[in-house]
Amino acid sequence: MSYDKNNIFAKILRGEIPCKKIYEDEFVLAFHDINPQKKVHALVIPKGEYVNLDDFSSKASEKEISGLIRGIGTVAKKIGVSDVVKGGGYRSLVNVGENGGQEVPHLHFHIFGGEKVGKMVS
Ligand code: AMP
Repeated sequence: MSYDKNNIFAKILRGEIPCKKIYEDEFVLAFHDINPQKKVHALVIPKGEYVNLDDFSSKASEKEISGLIRGIGTVAKKIGVSDVVKGGGYRSLVNVGENGGQEVPHLHFHIFGGEKVGKMVS
């Protein structure tokens, strides 16, 4: 599984193309999806070069793994969809590879919320 340094999220990470940034720390960058599927649709990506969740789960360090999971929680709070607030709640999902429908080959967690997100799989 080789990483394509020219994928769109790699370009966003390098600052070569803009994004609507939500949050950034040592481990993650989060930004609004360009084509939102729900009222709120954010993406959380690790800063490291990982093609997908398979790649990340086998190669990332413990710090990167915890950093990504904590980053997702932080972003959910920042965009107001966290379940700690009344009327909150969200869905987070990851598409992996061809059958998973992954389009961008840099691992990303989607966060959907701001409304009822409907059935899990359509
Ligand atoms: P996936 O199908 O899981 O690979 O999702 C890729 C997501 O990236 C889609 O929801 C796209 O709308 C989103 N996307 C593609 N290009 C950009 C971009 N330049 N900025 C923000 N989101 C993007």
